[in-house]
Amino acid sequence: MREAALYEKLPGGAVRCLVCQWRCVIKPGKAGVCGVRRNRDGILEDLVYGLASSIAPDPIEKKPLFHFHPGTLVFSLGTWGCNFRCRHCQNWTISQTLPRGEGIRISPEASVELARRYGCQGIAWTYNEPTVWFEYTLEGAKLAKKEGLYTVYVTNGFLSEEALDLLGPYLDALSLDVKGFSDRFYMELAKVSRWRKVLEIAERAKRKWGMHVEIVTNVIPTMNDDEEQLRGIARWIRESLGPETPWHITRFYPHHLMRHLPPTPISTLERAYRIGKEEGLYFVYTGNLPGHPAESTFCPKCGKLVIQRFGYEIKILSLEDGRCAGCGADLNIRR
Ligand code: SF4
Repeated sequence: MREAALYEKLPGGAVRCLVCQWRCVIKPGKAGVCGVRRNRDGILEDLVYGLASSIAPDPIEKKPLFHFHPGTLVFSLGTWGCNFRCRHCQNWTISQTLPRGEGIRISPEASVELARRYGCQGIAWTYNEPTVWFEYTLEGAKLAKKEGLYTVYVTNGFLSEEALDLLGPYLDALSLDVKGFSDRFYMELAKVSRWRKVLEIAERAKRKWGMHVEIVTNVIPTMNDDEEQLRGIARWIRESLGPETPWHITRFYPHHLMRHLPPTPISTLERAYRIGKEEGLYFVYTGNLPGHPAESTFCPKCGKLVIQRFGYEIKILSLEDGRCAGCGADLNIRR
């Protein structure tokens, strides 16, 4: 448990948490929407500081990040709680519950040490929304950068500008969900109305802080697989982040409160892929479809196969300093 870094004290012992776009006003004894940031006697505390639900050395491709240190391992940590209520969440047992007794205590120093011990080149806060243990991730990111590790947030993008700006100097990459592109969809899926803030945060991360940003959309049958939403996301990526920004369109599998829907048909993902390409994106990837040709990176200029992927297995075939070894085109790949 740790006093929060970003909050305001209000009259009557209430506090306003400032780490995400909810900006919850929390009365004494209560918690915010995420459930893990609680007002104790007028002090905002983070109940999950340094308390992990899950840790693992993962391939960076699993985040998914395809253009950021490809082929490396990233030490991945998650805790409990989330500021969204996604009905399809595959990690709902940690994101939609409060900490259970069996957590793993891990200091920021220990996370950096374990990353090294497992042969990882970076640290990712992932599995649940990292904003909910913001203070822990900020301290971990500072230490990681000092030790020469890269740092990653896998996020729904609903963090506040203030939180992003504190992380900015120490965070290298975002794998950021744009879950759909309509008010109705975000409300139905996650009970979130001001979802467009997510777009602003992605833009700010890239423009103000120079973070590497990849966008992820889990394509859910009948929910966000219509032409308008898919085209809207692809167009926004091109216009706001640039056509070199990778877009991951991943296959939905029934989870949590959405077990009644079938997995996304492959033909739907291929249609989304075509839409991304029609809108001018250079790198569109299908996810959760191991072996599909759209998992691999082709040079948008000369067509050469640059990185071949099969699930999380990769072969770097034609890459030099982030450029195509065949024609020299810039592929927006950080190594
Ligand atoms: S992190 Fe977001 S949801 Fe949680 S208390 Fe703070 S403002 Fe509310």
